[in-house]
Amino acid sequence: MRDYAVAIVGAGVAGLAAASFLARRGARVILLEALPRAGGRAFTDHPAALGGAPFDHGASWLHSAERNPLARLGRLRRETLIDTARTRQRILIIDGRRATEAERAARDAADDALETALIARADQTPDPSFAAALDALPPNPWHANSEAIEATLIAAADPAELSLADWRANRLEGTNLLPPAGLGAYVLRLLAPPAGVLALATPVSRIDWRGRDVALETPGGTIRARAAIVTVSTGVLAAGGISFIPALPDATQAAIAALPMGLLSKVALRAAGEERLDLPPGCFVEHRLSARGEPFMAFNAWPRGRDHVIGFIGGGAAWTLAREGAKAAEAFARAELARLFGARAAHAFAPGAVATSWGSDATFLGAYAYPPPGAAAARLALAAPFADGRLAFAGEACHPTLAGTVAGAFISGRAAARAAWRAMRRG
Ligand SMILES: Cc1cc2nc3c(=O)[nH]c(=O)nc-3n(C[C@H](O)[C@H](O)[C@H](O)COP(=O)(O)OP(=O)(O)OC[C@H]3O[C@@H](n4cnc5c(N)ncnc54)[C@H](O)[C@@H]3O)c2cc1C
Repeated sequence: MRDYAVAIVGAGVAGLAAASFLARRGARVILLEALPRAGGRAFTDHPAALGGAPFDHGASWLHSAERNPLARLGRLRRETLIDTARTRQRILIIDGRRATEAERAARDAADDALETALIARADQTPDPSFAAALDALPPNPWHANSEAIEATLIAAADPAELSLADWRANRLEGTNLLPPAGLGAYVLRLLAPPAGVLALATPVSRIDWRGRDVALETPGGTIRARAAIVTVSTGVLAAGGISFIPALPDATQAAIAALPMGLLSKVALRAAGEERLDLPPGCFVEHRLSARGEPFMAFNAWPRGRDHVIGFIGGGAAWTLAREGAKAAEAFARAELARLFGARAAHAFAPGAVATSWGSDATFLGAYAYPPPGAAAARLALAAPFADGRLAFAGEACHPTLAGTVAGAFISGRAAARAAWRAMRRG
């Protein structure tokens, strides 16, 4: 007996986008979410350690607003969105002091030249890693910083493991917008599913797609649907968080294996008093690295005018801290702030911190997926529906040019829903 037309697994942005697409068309749809909350990696919290200020554990900016459907939707709904280019200053620190204008100009020029050179190399066959492509360029002291930002922070991957072709395809360009009360809250306002569609605290453990219908195993029993869309992270899929009967096709399994999860972690510290380290609200603080591969934490200070700073660290260094635990991440952030601002930093922050845990959380097992050299095609391979359209994967990992963003997740979820809808109408 079939309960639903479509069952969607995971109520992150992709799942929410798919559910609203199908519900609007009158399809009988259910959205099965393991956690007691929706939003997935778009999650606004109000931690006591930050005085109840909004804190996005995952996504916070609407990147590439010009081609971001969630930015368009927000404008249609008259949501307030802050253009960070207007408000955000970049602060560059060298050996504990502010960089001079000439040093800032040299850093920007090196970044521009590097970007141009790497884009020109991104069509090479075989596809090199980001690091290998950089090795082939004349050395520049600022390459360490560019590499740390482009690979470890933006792609959440170590440069030696990241496909250059995929880096090029997914470069963030254009306007970045910030919802003032948090991106997680914004997503839930815009994509709230109709009543009765969302089943929270309902993890799917097994998907049986042998018959004409798909059967999904949950603690509350088996749910049957004409088709299923699975939006969990590739980390969860690779770890066998959901078992499939029969096993997934070889091409799908290979695509999952070719899209490991990178890690981007955040550590937030609250000001103890009035000390703001001469940093303007919302600024981005970067320090000069002395060598390529050095662990790198950049800071967003006093975001939205609030009294906390957020440190960002990605790639292998983030995985190491994730294994060591939240206290180690906090200690690292405090040590970095002391290195940048000296003794002032020691008194500037209150005890306690908020450290994100995407790497160790079994419902995600990382921040977002990246392909190693030669594997960029895995994104579209994972997105290809199979079993006559009865089973499809969607989510950020599946988007070829907006991967690792809420925009990519949204577009991917909606595309999977459209394909399921068409398949159903064909009968
Ligand atoms: C630290 C960090 C910073 C980021 N910054 C930005 C940013 O500024 N801008 C941006 O655009 N993007 C950013 N991203 C990326 C963005 O958050 C993701 O690309 C996007 O939210 C992924 O959405 P999704 O629907 O593909 O996956 P998810 O959000 O992971 O949704 C999948 C859902 O499946 C659920 N699930 C897992 N297992 C099961 C199961 N067995 N049964 C049922 N449900 C299950 C999960 O709980 C989750 O809710 C960031 C991510 C991180 C981690």
